[in-house]
Amino acid sequence: MLTPISGKSVIVTGASKGIGKGIARVFAKHGANIMIVSRNETDAEATAKELRTFGSGDVSVFASDVSDWDSQQAMASACNDRYGSIDVLCANAGVYPQTLIEDMDPSEFEMVLNTNIKGNFLGVKACLPFMKKNDYGRIVLTSSITGPITGFPGWSHYGASKAAQLGFMRTACIETAKYNITMNSVLPGNIATEGLDDLGEDYLATMANSIPLKRLGVVEDIGYAALFFASQEANYITGQTIVVDGGQTLPESLEALE
Ligand code: NAP
Repeated sequence: MLTPISGKSVIVTGASKGIGKGIARVFAKHGANIMIVSRNETDAEATAKELRTFGSGDVSVFASDVSDWDSQQAMASACNDRYGSIDVLCANAGVYPQTLIEDMDPSEFEMVLNTNIKGNFLGVKACLPFMKKNDYGRIVLTSSITGPITGFPGWSHYGASKAAQLGFMRTACIETAKYNITMNSVLPGNIATEGLDDLGEDYLATMANSIPLKRLGVVEDIGYAALFFASQEANYITGQTIVVDGGQTLPESLEALE
């Protein structure tokens, strides 16, 4: 049993749907105060409405683009104003358009890096003064198996951004350690989300077959990994990764999947 996280203030970016919504749901179930962040405020409010039905903590909404500095600063200030602290930042927002290099416009490459890695830098930088003030912080990044461990045609920009998150974390966590701020990353495999649905049924079926547990993960699988990194019990863990992929990255050959 982990020490209760109730009363802690948690920002989850990209929480209007998908994995971020799963992370927010897990933290809300455990009594934390949650700030749901996405660009679309209507979607974020719909998620907040759902979370308010079962959490004992407060659930609020803030519309912010993680790739925009002013917008990220406003997000951090709003959380601190509402809850008096930022205890946990789950920097989860990310995009993954699938395009081969030969077909990719350079602007798409920039957009993916701006959201997925520059977004992490801006989120951490914006929350840092508030965490530093309280000599406490837990930062959890949502990376991926794609990039840090595997490759996938069409995701050169995405894989680069997801590997970059780990490079960023390994230096950033040293810089923040003196303020009692830890930073760790969850590396999801294929998790059933709205974003993944867009890739089509064939993709989903092929993926399920290539996973030893023979199914895609659910968003709460990532939520519980994030909850652990944010817990009191994980207070001596920083700069580390946990893979949550149903064993997907393990098989050496098709034979291993039979
Ligand atoms: P999703 O279902 O497409 O949801 C993405 C969320 O991020 C939405 O809430 C979206 O809301 C928000 N978002 C996107 N761009 C944003 C921006 N610039 N600023 C603020 N919010 C933004 O995606 P997902 O599958 O849950 O993926 C979430 C994270 O998990 C990503 O970092 C992704 O790389 C990672 N991941 C996913 C999988 C998977 O299998 N699904 C696997 C490995 C890693 P708005 O559009 O309203 O902003």
